[in-house]
Amino acid sequence: MKIHEYQAKALLQRYGVAVPRGVPCFSVEEAVAAGHTLGAGVRVVKAQIHAGGRGKGGGVKVVRTDDELETAARQILGMQLVTHQTGPHGQTVHRLLVEEGADIRQELYVGMVVDRNTQQVALMASAAGGMDIEEVAASHPEQIHTAQVDPGVGLRPEQAETLARQIGVPESLVGQARDLMLGLYRAFDDTDASLAEINPMAVTGDGKVLALDAKFNFDANALYRHEDIQAWRDLDEEDPNEIEASRFGLSYISLEGNIGCLVNGAGLAMATMDIVKLYGGNPANFLDVGGGATTEKVTEAFKLMLSNPGLKAILVNIFGGIMKCDVIAEGVVAAARQVRLAVPLVVRLEGTNVELGKQILADSGLPILSAVNMADAAAQVVAAARG
Ligand code: ADP
Ligand code: MG
Repeated sequence: MKIHEYQAKALLQRYGVAVPRGVPCFSVEEAVAAGHTLGAGVRVVKAQIHAGGRGKGGGVKVVRTDDELETAARQILGMQLVTHQTGPHGQTVHRLLVEEGADIRQELYVGMVVDRNTQQVALMASAAGGMDIEEVAASHPEQIHTAQVDPGVGLRPEQAETLARQIGVPESLVGQARDLMLGLYRAFDDTDASLAEINPMAVTGDGKVLALDAKFNFDANALYRHEDIQAWRDLDEEDPNEIEASRFGLSYISLEGNIGCLVNGAGLAMATMDIVKLYGGNPANFLDVGGGATTEKVTEAFKLMLSNPGLKAILVNIFGGIMKCDVIAEGVVAAARQVRLAVPLVVRLEGTNVELGKQILADSGLPILSAVNMADAAAQVVAAARG
């Protein structure tokens, strides 16, 4: 789960990390009032969406007067903000953060992720902050310094100080940068985050080290122990199909392709997408209906896939282990009837009562293409999607 910058900054503040004074706003009027509260200096109006790259996309505006602030708020609120992380359609801006402008001398980067290879937390820092850190990692990997943090021990102050010096924090401010990193680490650890990033971490003209931007991702499996963070969930930022899917206990992720995939089991779902790709097709989604593929679940799954106007064909790939193939076939037939399925449907069934299942599909009178194995299913569905 992701949160907004203003929420991430509120979280960091609890851990002693310095952030600019700021106010989240939901309307232009609120933004104007927030501007007054902050005083007459330079202020910044920032779009709040769950994606980075807002500055380049026109979602961050530095303003010098109240008029400029109002104009910026009017422009940004409600805009469809396109960044390299939103996809081509962009994301509608519903919230703003109005904050004090900082007198920036250096824009640095610090971030951390769970490193599965080392089973530790990787704390990364770079002097090349502010810009696209993925780009820096790709073209100048030597500019990214890393410290491995043993989660049993936590971030050691010396590790943070070494990193601060490596990225060029002035000696007199190394202590502040260290404390910021220690606060970031404690916030990350306490909240079961999977990623936390401050980009830029700014060194200012008045000798402060501040978090000017902040991003957190949390491990969804641990959210049950963090009600305060769950309360920050913003459904406006999530794919409506994925929200709908979670209501029915379906694991669903929208993708760019045109072949809907309905599978039981995450591993089989991954393998299904792989083989569709291998045969030259593109999956429209990842969808795991789980162990109990009931008629209701299969119907909802069909509805979800069909809500995509670009959908050209559906592949149902089910291994009937605990679930029997005849029960699944009944479910698929009932669901296909209920949604008046108009795109080609390829079904591959394997497992208990498979013959009975295939008979039910054949007897249904529906134009279902039956496949004998995964390769056959992929070949058929890719051909069907091409029309
Ligand atoms: P994003 O990473 O989505 O583009 P940021 O919050 O990092 O958004 O803002 C982009 C840039 O805007 C920063 O790199 C910084 O130069 C500038 N900026 C952001 N917040 C402030 C602030 N409070 N004061 C001065 N400049 C800021
Ligand atoms: Mg940023």
